[in-house]
Amino acid sequence: NVRVRFAPSPTGPLHIGGVRTALYNYLFAKKHGGTFVLRIEDTDQNRYVEGAEDYIVEALNWCGIPYDEGPGKEGGFGPYRQSERKDKYFAFAEKLIASGDAYYAFDTAEALDAHRKSHEDEGKTFIYNWHNREKLDNSLNLSAEETQKRIDAGEDYVIRFKSPQSEILELDDIIRGAVEVDTSLLDDKVLFKADGMPTYHLANIVDDHLMEITHVIRGEEWLPSLALHVMLYRAFGWEAPQFAHLPLIMKPVGKGKLSKRDGDKMGFPVFPLEWKDPKSGDIASGYREDGYLPEAVINMLAFLGWNPGTEKEIYTLEELVQDFELTRVHKSGAKFDPEKTKWFQQQHLQLASDASLVSGLQGILKEKHLDYDDAYVKQIIHLVKERAVFVSDLFDQGSFFFERPTSYDEKAAKKAWKDDTGEIMINLSKIISETEDFSAENLSANVKGWIQNEGLGFGKVMQPLRLSLVGSMSGPDVFDIASTIGKAKTLERIRFAIE
Ligand code: GLU
Repeated sequence: NVRVRFAPSPTGPLHIGGVRTALYNYLFAKKHGGTFVLRIEDTDQNRYVEGAEDYIVEALNWCGIPYDEGPGKEGGFGPYRQSERKDKYFAFAEKLIASGDAYYAFDTAEALDAHRKSHEDEGKTFIYNWHNREKLDNSLNLSAEETQKRIDAGEDYVIRFKSPQSEILELDDIIRGAVEVDTSLLDDKVLFKADGMPTYHLANIVDDHLMEITHVIRGEEWLPSLALHVMLYRAFGWEAPQFAHLPLIMKPVGKGKLSKRDGDKMGFPVFPLEWKDPKSGDIASGYREDGYLPEAVINMLAFLGWNPGTEKEIYTLEELVQDFELTRVHKSGAKFDPEKTKWFQQQHLQLASDASLVSGLQGILKEKHLDYDDAYVKQIIHLVKERAVFVSDLFDQGSFFFERPTSYDEKAAKKAWKDDTGEIMINLSKIISETEDFSAENLSANVKGWIQNEGLGFGKVMQPLRLSLVGSMSGPDVFDIASTIGKAKTLERIRFAIE
């Protein structure tokens, strides 16, 4: 029974790296008929940011990858916020003290600084582990009575994990395979803090165990913690879940991890949804507000670190669930590509249902106080969709279907509009108004027949006609446009252009 969790800390908006982690967890869970849990890791109260949890939930919902269990969705393993599980962790830390795998440490911040300083002076690095722990102020050097006395006296203490002095740990990662770690350089990590809260490491392991998590799928930045986590499972006598560490997401150009600054510089969002910082009021852009479809964002993120090993690139969520394999996730960093993201968006816009595109374009028309029925809007969508990337392009590239051009492309006007054009357009208007069957074919036949009879030359008629209807030289076939907007509007636009 597969159970996976996405365990963000609510320290700000979820960036796309976090969304990818959530997505891979979701895909893996759904593929195996398992459960996707959301756990909010909010033990560090200093870093808590108002609104971040709501943002995470909304982002997952918008992406179409909602969690099965988590805040507000009880599944028998709650509560799902670590701040609401506070009372659980201390007993587990004490268990490790009893088994000799952890100890109390009373060292003050000043004392630790002094140790660090004196090591530095000798050109060495201070590590709180077997190298030094005998010289420091902890329960390993005190009797049980002395330790208890100091605790009872209200002295500040932390609880540290006692790392083995020298052991080669054989760790296993689904993506990376076997990883060896020599414990001799690991420090004795703090499990429980002086403020009465567990650290990430303790709370994370305890909760993964209590929530019966079978697979931990998370970012590569947690790989250095894997040794400690595996040792913790061993110390507790618990079976460890399987681990999969996902590759970093890299900058589109240059080296290093993708950052918010790259997005600002190159003009693409690194967040799924717009985020307004509660303190500064600064707004960071989001894929949703920039007009991306969730299907496109999900497809793009799925391919940041994974591929199916075939040519297929365009995937629906259901298809991703079918084809996704953790063992096919890459080890090396995945370069983020804003252009490719747009390409995914364009592809998914083509796949979007008529109904969703109609409602999207109607939204834009309503804002502009343009009133057209759905059937007409749908017809326009079919004429312009192919080249559109965003729903807003459907309007931008087809605005002349809805509004008379208010200005004319200057260069084109100079070329197309000659001294005799006004008179030609008046005569053309007569032909158009006499055309009863206003289909594009019939109109085209009538107008072209007239041009030939008059011996006028196509350019002299067709260019000013297009300019009158569109305002520039772009757009689909000019008779398609005329037929679509109808006779009255065609004549009106020609009249307007002449004036
Ligand atoms: N709270 C950690 C984070 O914010 C979770 C890491 C993990 O998945 O173990 O990334």
